[in-house]
Amino acid sequence: MTQRITVVEKILGANERLATENNKILNNAKVVGLNLMASPGAGKTSLIEKTIHGLGSRLRIAVVDGDIATSIDADRAAAAGALAVQINTGGECHLDAVMLGQALAALDLSAVDLLIVENVGNLICPAYFPLGTHKSVLIASIPEGDDKPYKYPGMYQGVDALVINKTDLLPYIDFDMDYFRRGVEALNPGLITFPLSCKTAEGMDSWLDWVSEVASEAKGSTFE
Ligand code: MG
Ligand code: ZN
Repeated sequence: MTQRITVVEKILGANERLATENNKILNNAKVVGLNLMASPGAGKTSLIEKTIHGLGSRLRIAVVDGDIATSIDADRAAAAGALAVQINTGGECHLDAVMLGQALAALDLSAVDLLIVENVGNLICPAYFPLGTHKSVLIASIPEGDDKPYKYPGMYQGVDALVINKTDLLPYIDFDMDYFRRGVEALNPGLITFPLSCKTAEGMDSWLDWVSEVASEAKGSTFE
């Protein structure tokens, strides 16, 4: 048991050092990085598409997609007009700083303002592997249920912003928004939150404003 804990600490420590390296690379290239995390099906790829459509004329956007086996998501990001790099994790359930470092090496960062990383759909381990990006964003969605902050506290604690996607489904699903928000507030007080629908575009403008603000302000800052 003790041995296992030691190994895990070494892995996380090595990841942290490489995340610092990735952060330097992004800062030197004046690229702002977002790490998008969520469970499978919450709408990471849809939000990326909408963000490219909304900001692509003002910001040069690149997308790094982590996926266990396919390039479906990277293909969608490329079709929406972004530079896209696919990382197939070969079964790994999260991206780590080594993988992002390899993706950064494959990109011409001088042609990029904003880098969006789509992490592997998973509400557990992505929280423990910082990548060196500037902001971490969690996407929750209405069909997942209102109990997720209580069940996955580590994920809700570590993020800088929360998107609540699929608000168009609220009339059809028992989702107690007050209960959900109380859980979030207990874990991450004052967390900036964007309720929106990628399908109807309701609430999308606030999200796009925040991303463009981050893209202009976060340049040169260290990752959290
Ligand atoms: Mg996706
Ligand atoms: Zn994992």
